[in-house]
This record gives sequence, C-alpha cells and structure tokens, in this order.
Amino acid sequence: MYDTIILGSSFSGSLLGWILAARGMRVLVVDRGRHPRFAIGESSTPAADLILAELAARHRLPELAPLARWGSWQARYPDLGCGKKRGFSYFHHRPGERFCDTPDHAASLLVAASATDAGSDTHWLRADVDAFLCERSARAGAIVREGCAVVAIERQERCWKVRFAAAVGDGLGPEEQASAPFLVDATGGGGASATALGIKSLDDTLHTRCGALFGHFAGVGSWDRLQEMAGNRSTTSPFRSDDAAQHHCLDGGWMWILRFRDDLASVGVVQPTGVCQGWAAGGTGALEGVWRRFLATYPSLADLLSASRPVRPLGLIPRISRLWSRASGEGFAMLPTTAGFVDPLHSTGIAHALSGVERLADLLLAESFDEVGWEAYGAAVVDEVAWIDLLVSTCYAVLPDFDRFRLASTLFFLATVAAERGYGRGETTTSQGFLAARNRPLRAALSAARAELLAGGEATAERLRDRLAPFDPVGLLDPAARHRFAHTAVDK
Ligand SMILES: Cc1cc2nc3c(=O)[nH]c(=O)nc-3n(C[C@H](O)[C@H](O)[C@H](O)COP(=O)(O)OP(=O)(O)OC[C@H]3O[C@@H](n4cnc5c(N)ncnc54)[C@H](O)[C@@H]3O)c2cc1C
Repeated sequence: MYDTIILGSSFSGSLLGWILAARGMRVLVVDRGRHPRFAIGESSTPAADLILAELAARHRLPELAPLARWGSWQARYPDLGCGKKRGFSYFHHRPGERFCDTPDHAASLLVAASATDAGSDTHWLRADVDAFLCERSARAGAIVREGCAVVAIERQERCWKVRFAAAVGDGLGPEEQASAPFLVDATGGGGASATALGIKSLDDTLHTRCGALFGHFAGVGSWDRLQEMAGNRSTTSPFRSDDAAQHHCLDGGWMWILRFRDDLASVGVVQPTGVCQGWAAGGTGALEGVWRRFLATYPSLADLLSASRPVRPLGLIPRISRLWSRASGEGFAMLPTTAGFVDPLHSTGIAHALSGVERLADLLLAESFDEVGWEAYGAAVVDEVAWIDLLVSTCYAVLPDFDRFRLASTLFFLATVAAERGYGRGETTTSQGFLAARNRPLRAALSAARAELLAGGEATAERLRDRLAPFDPVGLLDPAARHRFAHTAVDK
C-alpha cells in the first residue's frame, strides 16, 4: 500500500515523487519508458524558475535550488545538459528572401527576461534533467518502476488500484498490483488515466491546431554571426540572440532554435496540422527530405543550418494541442501538461507542469485532505489551458502580419509579467492561476485587445498602449522601445 501512485516519471512526475518522498510519503512512480531518453520541450521561463526556487525552499530540497538559474546550474551541475536563455527573440522571414531588418527593427522583437548571464533562464536537455529528477526521487525513497506498462486503473473501496507489468521482449511479464488513496497522472500525451476513466476530450474546442517536425542537431550556425556578416548587428541587443530562444517566424508557423552546450541544439519547425499531416504521410524515412525542402524556402535559415546534421532521427507530431474535460476527481489528479497542452510557442509547458507540482504537493501534504481545493485544482487547470490557447491562437491568427504578431505576442507577455510579479509578491499559482488566469481585470482587458486584433481594424501599439497601460508595468507597448525590451522578469 502506498500513499500516492504517480504514473509517468518525466520531470513533473519525478519532481512530485521527490517532494512527496522527501516529506515522508510512500510513493510509487511507474513509467513505460526508461531514463535517460530523448524528450522534447526544453525551453524554460522566468515563471518556471520562480516556481522551482519556491519548491526548493518550501520543501527543503537544496539540491533542486541550483536548477532555478543558469549560473547556479553551471556551478553545481556542470555535467547536466543545459543551455543559456537570456530571453525571447523573434525574426520575420519571407519565403524566397533573405532575412533583412531596419534600424527600427521592423522585422524583429527581442524581449530580455534576465539582466545577466548568471541570472538567466535555461534550456533543459531533457534526457539529463528528467533522469536526474527521477534518480533523486528514488534516492528520497520513492519506488520507481521504469519500463512498465500500465495494464488497468480501477477505483475500489476509496483506493486506486493500478495493475502494471514490465515489458519483456515484445510482450509483458507477470502483472503486479499496487494501491493508494491518491493517483497522480503525469503521463503527458500518454493520457493514461483519461483513457482508463473515460474522460471526454475537448481537443476540438481548442483554437490552436499546429504540429511540429523537430530534432537535435550538431553544427547549427550562429544567427548573430550570420547577421553581423550581413551588416546587421540588431540581433545582439539587449542580448545575443544565440543565447536565447530563437523564434524564426515563417508563413503559417515558425522555427525554434535552442542551444545547449557541446555543439548541440534543439531545432524544430511548427506548421498547421494539415501541413504536418501531409509530411507524416510519407513515413518517418521521408522526414529528412521534408526538412531539407522546407529549409530551402527560407534562404537565411538554409544558410544558418547548412552545416548542421541531425544527431538522432527527426520526430514529427502532426497535432500538438489537446485537452481533457476533467483534471481531477475522487482521489485522482492530472498534472497540467497531462490535462492539456496547447503549443510550443512562447514556452508554457515546463512552467505549467511545475505549477501543477506546486499545487498538488501542497494538497497531498496538507494536514487534512482539502476536497474542495482538489476539485478546484482540476477545474483551474482545464481553464488555464483554454486561457493559454486564447493567447497563443491569437499569435497564429495574425502571423502573416509581423506587426500584429508582435502585438499578439505582447498580449501574451503582459500576462507573463502579471504572473511573475504576482509570484514576486508572494502569490501562488493557486491564488492567481497559471499565467495570471484568475486575474479577471487583466483577462478581460487582454481578451478585448485580442478581439480587436482579430477584427483586423486599426489595432496598433499606440491604441492598445493607452487601454492596457494599467497592465503594462514594463512598457512592452511603448513604441519608443523599437521592439527591444530589457529585463522584464522580477528578480528572486
Ligand atoms: C514539439 C513540442 C515542443 C515543446 N517545447 C516546449 C518548450 O520549448 N518549452 C516548454 O516549456 N514546453 C515545451 N513543450 C511542452 C513540454 O514538452 C511539456 O510541458 C513537458 O514535456 C511535460 O512534461 P511532463 O513531465 O508533464 O510529461 P512528459 O514529458 O510528457 O512525460 C510523460 C511521461 O509519461 C510516460 N508515459 C506516457 N504514457 C504512459 C503510460 N500509459 N504508462 C506509463 N507511463 C507513461 C512517458 O514515458 C514519459 O516519461 C513542448 C511540447 C511539444 C510537443
């Protein structure tokens, strides 16, 4: 008998397992895979850092704290794969043309999250980070069963009973059974509990409908150097964009470039689901050809990646956005990115998952079980995915027009700034919601601005600036900034 069974040992399941086990709970973690293994979803954010630091302090896990900043991570865990992320950079490309900017940065946007390298956010090499957290959960006392398929999930006598079996060759070994009053589903897109419990899918209610073709590459060129050679230094202020999450905005979608150390980079292209389904039709063997043909459309990206080579087979997910109608119930809960996920644009996944670890750890460790809080958690998570979808889908809807894309992205950043400032004042995700989803005035103002942007009228930074002034403490809508913003995040 356990206190909690966690399905999924990726970073969120493992971190929750570590916290609960370190606080004396009997925890079982079951995963169908084995560490270390490749995982996509690598670019972290200031919100994620703030939550990580808070989790380390609240649950007295000094070994977790260094992961909250690039500098402390390098000093403490130099061998744990990580990249430096000074902020978010966006560059507008037109098919068949080389990237070209103006002195006023008409084709780019740089938003600095941190003021220094040491205080930077990070890109997580997930194979390393997930394995590290899983190992720490086991060290703290969690029982971790990797390489095990979940065979059945049942509720009996106010307990969850999970039957699972280790993979043996092409089949399964003998079944084992475990029970606990609480079950946490951290299986991400695996959706283990939703399938077993017959929970309704809300996928078709989401506006964002994209897929991604991605991989890890060696030999990716320097975007800053390429631009310097072309006589354009605008990519290096207020930070070098090679030290950031690069978003190359394209027709219908975008490309991400995230650098780790040792000449390794995560590179992926996001396109509408219909396009990605076409790519999938050729089978996995055809993906490198698809990749090369796609790159040929954008000469500056073709230059940037001319010497690159994938270090593992490319991956393709034709449709990324998904959402279940329920994220908690009698003794069970899903972590946020199991309940739903929208899209990689603006990197919400890691922070949202960590916010779920924060909330579920508090609920599971409380002196007495808070049934109302447990139900409220699930409803909040479903609502937060819909809120992310509203903001992210606006960016896609206006993407062909880079000025409007920048404004749509700014609406998203206003929500992140509100949330980060909330954490800075001691608020939690429970009180303010993820991405300030419970901040009703902010939500109403951003929703109205969204409607104006989508209506295609005269939505300009000047018009939105006055109306959104109460929600723009760092001047993200100030046209005088010429699309360069220094240090938006709060310091810890
Ligand atoms: C293309 C793409 C790019 C992304 N980029 C970013 C980004 O840059 N920044 C960001 O913040 N987020 C990003 N995300 C989101 C990010 O990947 C997720 O938020 C993150 O992986 C969630 O982690 P997790 O620990 O909750 O679950 P996951 O990483 O999804 O792990 C689920 C675990 O459950 C296990 N599992 C699955 N099914 C079962 C089962 N039936 N039984 C047992 N075990 C099971 C799996 O083996 C795995 O270990 C991206 C997502 C995609 C699809």
